[in-house]
Amino acid sequence: MTLPVLAHWIDGAERPSTSGRTSPVFDPALGVATKHVALADRAEVDAAVASAKAAFPGWRDLSITKRQQILFRFRELLNERKEDLALILTSEHGKVLSDALGEITRGLEVVELATGFPHLIKGEYSANVSTGVDVYSTRGPIGVVGIISPFNFPAMVPMWFFPIAIAAGNTVVLKPSEKDPSAANWLAELFTEAGLPDGVFNVLHGDKVAVDGLLEHADVKSISFVGSTPIAKYIYETAARNGKRVQALGGAKNHMLVLPDADLDLAADAAVNAGFGSAGERCMAISVIVAVEPVADDLIEKIATRISALTIGDGRRSCDMGPLVTAAHRDKVASYIDIATEDGARVVVDGRGVEVDGDANGFWLGPTLIDAVPVESRVYTDEIFGPVLSIVRAESYEQGLALINASPYGNGTAIFTNDGGAARRFQNEVEVGMIGINVPIPVPVAYYSFGGFKDSAFGDSKAYGLQGFHFFTREKAITSRWLDPSHGGINLGFPQA
Ligand code: NAD
Repeated sequence: MTLPVLAHWIDGAERPSTSGRTSPVFDPALGVATKHVALADRAEVDAAVASAKAAFPGWRDLSITKRQQILFRFRELLNERKEDLALILTSEHGKVLSDALGEITRGLEVVELATGFPHLIKGEYSANVSTGVDVYSTRGPIGVVGIISPFNFPAMVPMWFFPIAIAAGNTVVLKPSEKDPSAANWLAELFTEAGLPDGVFNVLHGDKVAVDGLLEHADVKSISFVGSTPIAKYIYETAARNGKRVQALGGAKNHMLVLPDADLDLAADAAVNAGFGSAGERCMAISVIVAVEPVADDLIEKIATRISALTIGDGRRSCDMGPLVTAAHRDKVASYIDIATEDGARVVVDGRGVEVDGDANGFWLGPTLIDAVPVESRVYTDEIFGPVLSIVRAESYEQGLALINASPYGNGTAIFTNDGGAARRFQNEVEVGMIGINVPIPVPVAYYSFGGFKDSAFGDSKAYGLQGFHFFTREKAITSRWLDPSHGGINLGFPQA
């Protein structure tokens, strides 16, 4: 059977690829390829960027009211049809339908924030800064912006960026993950239906060739990237070298610190939700629990009990956790269970061979819990990005904090305690960008900004919120004087009054 090939979306319509290169897209719960996705060559990069460049002046100059009305229509359509999009996410990523809907809801929040853009891109005005002279600022778009997104949130991560970029008057080329690319076309088509002019939002499918094409293209003014740390670093350095504005969010290894006074049932629920939701394929997943003694044994027992009640299977059925995204990724994640044993850790729950409510060929790996993980082990140091939760035991708050701060990553962290003073101290002392206090996945709401520290984020701008609006706009400061009959003639110095 010949599988369909997902085309690019350029200039408001599907654009079948001419590169001759494709990549298979799998249904992870069935373990079969359902389509191929085009992989762009340089000519196709040029076509997508040219479309965005041509659309830019018209979109920039469209009145704020008309741009806002299109965003509102997009928001309404997306909300009406989010179940259709959720099904696409589940069939290519594998996450369960309820989680796919949750992802869309978090993306919708950014669309809703973006509808308020007139207020957020207002400039400032100071009258009479010198006699007869006024100074004011405007925030305008930067031009064609590139967005490169990862597989784990095929709808939400693009929506961290494109609603704000488009609201602010920019035009977009989105390069989604080749592992689950269909959501991007669906969103672009929906935006066209909402009235977005052709060329404002383009989807370019591809791999490193497409990414490098965007990084090197003179007409692309900024890059917003989300993905693994080595690629984020490469993107940051290459885009900056090519004179672009760049924000590059990388990988993570998020620790949850459980103090002896914590409510252990709450902590165990949180650990299971945050460790195994979306099969651990979340950049804000908890992957290490630092249990401050004497709580480790009790906590492990409570987590293991909860794991035994989880249902694993096809996300279209009523399950708690779906498969991993590809067979290769599943095998890589599973290999850490052997590494754990070799390194002297204790595998409490082994997810290999888990019983599933789904096709035998799916990319399954059940929730895995590993105790006494040595901090030298790759199980501790690597970002595993799967349903593998490690326990590290600490003797004190200070030892736990030192461990977290020694990590090269600084994306998210959480503390579980009933001591407000300890929580406040943690918030001050921990070197991590997003902190939960008795909240395991502290993803900020849309009107704050998302981003980590250290190897979890390169560049000085976070995603969405006010920082998103700053990233996608540039400020002009205008000094103006309208001459009146009293103007004072030649003066080579700076004005004094
Ligand atoms: P990835 O780095 O493999 O891919 C991300 C994007 O980069 C994709 O579009 C991919 O096509 C492209 N890419 C891959 N290899 C490339 C190369 N050599 N040169 C240029 N481009 C390349 O990441 P992934 O596996 O899709 O996503 C999972 C990773 O993303 C995890 O590390 C996760 O922590 C991270 N992530 C981080 C955040 C965050 O906000 N910090 C959010 C989501 C995911």
